[in-house]
Amino acid sequence: MGDHATFLYQSEPEHRSVMTKFVRQGLERGEKVVYVADAHTPETIAGYLRSDRVDVDAYLDRRQLVFLTPGEAYTRGDVFESGRMLSTMAGEAERTLAEGFAGLRSTGEMTWALRGPAGSEQLIDYERALSEIAEKNHILLLCQYDQDRFRPEFLLDVLHTHPIVIAGTEVCENFYYIAPAELTDHYLPAARFRVCMENLLARKRMEEALLRSMEQLRHSQKLEAVGKLAGGVAHDFRNLVTAIMHSAELLEEEFQEGTQGRTDAQEILTSAKRAERLVTQLLAFGMRQELKPRILDLNSIVGNLENMLKRVTGDKVEQVLMNMVVNACEAMPDGGRLTVRTDNVTVEPGQCRGIPEARPGRFVRLSIADTGAGMSKDTLEQMFEPFFTTKQSGTGLGLSVAYGIIRQHGGWITVDSEPGRGTRFQIHLPAVVAHSLSASQMAPGSSL
Ligand code: ADP
Ligand code: MG
Repeated sequence: MGDHATFLYQSEPEHRSVMTKFVRQGLERGEKVVYVADAHTPETIAGYLRSDRVDVDAYLDRRQLVFLTPGEAYTRGDVFESGRMLSTMAGEAERTLAEGFAGLRSTGEMTWALRGPAGSEQLIDYERALSEIAEKNHILLLCQYDQDRFRPEFLLDVLHTHPIVIAGTEVCENFYYIAPAELTDHYLPAARFRVCMENLLARKRMEEALLRSMEQLRHSQKLEAVGKLAGGVAHDFRNLVTAIMHSAELLEEEFQEGTQGRTDAQEILTSAKRAERLVTQLLAFGMRQELKPRILDLNSIVGNLENMLKRVTGDKVEQVLMNMVVNACEAMPDGGRLTVRTDNVTVEPGQCRGIPEARPGRFVRLSIADTGAGMSKDTLEQMFEPFFTTKQSGTGLGLSVAYGIIRQHGGWITVDSEPGRGTRFQIHLPAVVAHSLSASQMAPGSSL
């Protein structure tokens, strides 16, 4: 806790609704509530609470609910005295602890400020002192302003001095807020202007970031849904294929070597085996496959790349790498440069922004870069979807399988690509401080 909010209301029902909730919530959480009443009498507020079935008298008896007047709390003859407020609030905070309450919240009706010599300066002094007190003593403070009774200049100052605004009944994070430290020169317009400009840009950036993360969420949800569907279909399909293979094998036995029947049976078997391979890939994308994670030396995999390209190995990460290398080569029909490298990286929280699956920690990074055709925005959008291909005889499974496998291993995959300028995929996989692998074996920067 420890926050400084303002409540700007326009009607009595609004005031009643928000105040009742604020006070009631504090009481129910076992906090002490200090209400500095001015425009309303304590009886009115207590009445609101009673009709909301709050046992006001019990709370008052046990001094968990306390009503004060501004004169008791912080004014002398309607002039605000920051020294008095400091001691009132600090005293209450101390008592709250001694009395064993869970915390302190306080709210004040600000109408007293209408009677005093109430210039903006007095108000700013007041609000600044309150901010400090709220923070230092962990008090939740709520200043109440009736919008129709205060001058607009005054209300503008209120907006600038509270990090949280309850506008009517809506709680808003206040981007018009200017931290007290920024207001040291009592409001130099230049300082206010600067802060407003900064806030303007900050808000724009926030909106953009929100839009981006919505877009990313939509994208990963789509992949998730497609993955589920593909995984489900593949599962059933594999059972069918297994049955077909089994029957074809039996059939093959029935026929003599060299007969047409035998050739036909073998044909069925070959096709069924191809179907099974396809289905296995789909299962990888759907993330339905059993995984046995083990520690890998990425460098040795990268080093064996050439061998690997010649045979289909069972290993998942090798499969990913192979898919990506094949893609890179296919993107460079007239030749170019393929770079595969690994390095160890520590991902900081700030670097995860914009990548839904990313998280901080130690990772091994595998980059596959080519100088080929690159990808259009459209292709980039869809490349991870199963069966998406821009190639005449493509299957559209390579990247979707890679995506599924990497996610299953607790990693993520990102891509930079521009039409005509090549493509770079980066894969992050959780690093293991391995017993079997020395640091030198995992040395960064191995290139191919
Ligand atoms: P396939 O290779 O069978 O088309 P993938 O899932 O491996 O299926 O790739 C999907 C699509 O992504 C490809 O058709 C291609 O348009 C694009 N793509 C993948 N990798 C690259 C790359 N390195 N350079 C350019 N385009 C690529
Ligand atoms: Mg491919």
